[in-house]
Amino acid sequence: MNMTTRSFNMLECSYVDVAEWVKVSDVVLVPIGSCEKHGPHIPLGTDSYITRAIVEGAASKANAPYTPLLPFGYSPHHMGEPGKGVGTVTLRGETLRRILYDIACSLIYHNFNKIVFVSHHGSNMKIVDDVLRRIRYQTGAFVCWYKTPTERELSIIRDLLKSKPEEAPGWHSGEEETAVLMAYTPNLVKMERAQPRSIHAPKFLGEKFLKTDGTPTVQFMGYEGIWIPLEHHEYSENATIGDPFIATKETGAAIIERAANHLAEFCKELKKVQVTIKNRDFADRA
Ligand SMILES: [Zn+2]
Repeated sequence: MNMTTRSFNMLECSYVDVAEWVKVSDVVLVPIGSCEKHGPHIPLGTDSYITRAIVEGAASKANAPYTPLLPFGYSPHHMGEPGKGVGTVTLRGETLRRILYDIACSLIYHNFNKIVFVSHHGSNMKIVDDVLRRIRYQTGAFVCWYKTPTERELSIIRDLLKSKPEEAPGWHSGEEETAVLMAYTPNLVKMERAQPRSIHAPKFLGEKFLKTDGTPTVQFMGYEGIWIPLEHHEYSENATIGDPFIATKETGAAIIERAANHLAEFCKELKKVQVTIKNRDFADRA
């Protein structure tokens, strides 16, 4: 089997292929998704599909393998009310940290030195600091969290979006997410169900508070440094924070290409970085 027939997806590789992979790339991508309520026009797996689209593109451009995607993430605020049949499946922070630790330690055991977790689901980042540090301190491996362009971090795709910044183009179910799915999984986008964007401060807080996107803070008297553990439906009933109607599949294809190129350049740069592994054994694996 030659280079062109060895899959980038480790789930499709045999151990022979993986042994070949570690000779050409000590970087491995680990896509982490979510299964959570989005707007009525796009699936629960939206963040998972977007993560996968960008990782697949980056892996081939950077000649680096990727693991299978974890389709669940940290989504407690997307559960909705009990008994409504929303479908969100959330992992507690502790559960997700344990999964990330086990995945990273397994990969380091097999000779990968640089673990790049990739996720389009911004909330996954809220709970990972301690586990990423633990992996680094215990093994010496390089480990990082790469958030694909989303939420307020749109600098690398800003010019591709038609929405105005105040229309929250990178937020839940808006232009970016709808466009990427139109390009990547068009059969999963049901625009006849799409609803106009809805975002407001939670009503129970009263009139003095402002909220303009899905960041976990609220504004009070012009100041935004106030974090409250809110439920998503308290500030957006239809889980649609950005404008889906402006999305096109051309925009989506351009976003995937741009984001995949950026992640690939990052991985290529990372291949040059020297790290010293002090412990490859995953002795506490049982
Ligand atoms: Zn999303």
